[in-house]
Amino acid sequence: MRRIATHYITGYALGFALCLVGLTMLAAILWRAWPNVSTSHSVFPALEQYLWTKDFDFGFGVRLKLMHLTIMGAAALAFGIFVLAFSRKVFYVGKNVLLQCPFCKNQWKASRARGWGTCPYCNQMVQPKVVKIRK
Ligand SMILES: [Zn+2]
Repeated sequence: MRRIATHYITGYALGFALCLVGLTMLAAILWRAWPNVSTSHSVFPALEQYLWTKDFDFGFGVRLKLMHLTIMGAAALAFGIFVLAFSRKVFYVGKNVLLQCPFCKNQWKASRARGWGTCPYCNQMVQPKVVKIRK
């Protein structure tokens, strides 16, 4: 269970980071391009042309076309959303576990595995055994 929780947190953090990076990139590019294209009659072809003609200089001799950065930003955003959706699914899998009381051997469903819990049958403080993780 701890493994699933860790995956969930890592996935969520990664998904959010990717979404944030993608959105920031797209916003920054649009912020830069907008004053140059907003005056033209057809905004989208003008924007496309602008993105193909302008470079972004990272320094160290690394230059990339704004269009490539736009594609990378969009890809990061899409991948971030995908990772977020997948993390939710992983978390959902971890939500249904079957626990067993070590004393009365009764089983019950729980939202997640716990180190300690109260058995709903014999009402004792027990360390329930994880019988099954439902998919
Ligand atoms: Zn019990």
